[in-house]
Amino acid sequence: VLIAAVEAGGTSFVVAVVEDEAQNIVDQKSIDTKTPAETLPEVVQYFVEYQKANSCTFDALGVASFGPVDLNKNSETYGYITSTPKLAWKNCDILGTIRKGLGNIATFAFDTDVNGAALAMAIHFSGEQKVDSLAYCTVGTGVGVGILSNNRLVHGLLHPEAGHVYFPRAEGDSKEEFQGTCPFHGDCLEGLVASASLAKRKQISAKDLASIDDNDKLWEIAAFYLAHLCVMLASTVSPQVIVVGGGIMQRTILFQKIREQATKLTNNYLAIDYHQVIQESPFGQNAGIIGAAALAQQAYQTKNQ
Ligand SMILES: [Zn+2]
Repeated sequence: VLIAAVEAGGTSFVVAVVEDEAQNIVDQKSIDTKTPAETLPEVVQYFVEYQKANSCTFDALGVASFGPVDLNKNSETYGYITSTPKLAWKNCDILGTIRKGLGNIATFAFDTDVNGAALAMAIHFSGEQKVDSLAYCTVGTGVGVGILSNNRLVHGLLHPEAGHVYFPRAEGDSKEEFQGTCPFHGDCLEGLVASASLAKRKQISAKDLASIDDNDKLWEIAAFYLAHLCVMLASTVSPQVIVVGGGIMQRTILFQKIREQATKLTNNYLAIDYHQVIQESPFGQNAGIIGAAALAQQAYQTKNQ
């Protein structure tokens, strides 16, 4: 099975050719995210050239995108990016444009980048233990959560958007001192722990966050909010595994802090061992593209079983 996989991110798109297993990336390229009119033709060109050079055709397409996106197959705007703060991408028919470029490829899947990653993680963790409910959180440029429940990705009215919920403010991080950076909500979770938000507290740029010491109080504050997210997920969708990934989580000391804070917040009310439940991404920074491939693989299997 030859898969064309696209991870649509706010900063860059990753395009990849994947064979059989979602992790089996045989070719990969990163493309800067500009406007749809500039970026999408580059995406299509990559796959068309690959087909030509290797005399092959793709069996399935998987697109995992930043959101919000329209996942309702009965909607006229199915496959569109909808109300994003990235204005050039608002109401963009991302799925349709890429499909068209690939000759209206018949087998395809479209979901949020985090739902795709949640599916890929569930496949991975099922190798060791039976996992049919899992949450994948990304903490980077934005904050997003994908959820697989009883082996199904959660869709409904929309799709999970758990980056934009409010939690109590951490000690030493009051609203008076820092109002948050979300253009829609101010101090929602994303407005408090996305890379731009953490950087703004230190008056540095996001790429300089790596220079902040492990012992800095900033990481305690970030862990407090992310612990709240984990406790909320554990209490609502009851995942067996919560994977936390994204650029910020390269600061690996955060894992222990989040596990400890989550344990403290739960206060023995639920018998949840957060030291087991909260895990690092087994695919590192490739979670999104492997997720896109997993979506395509699932669509192919559903069609051909
Ligand atoms: Zn928000």
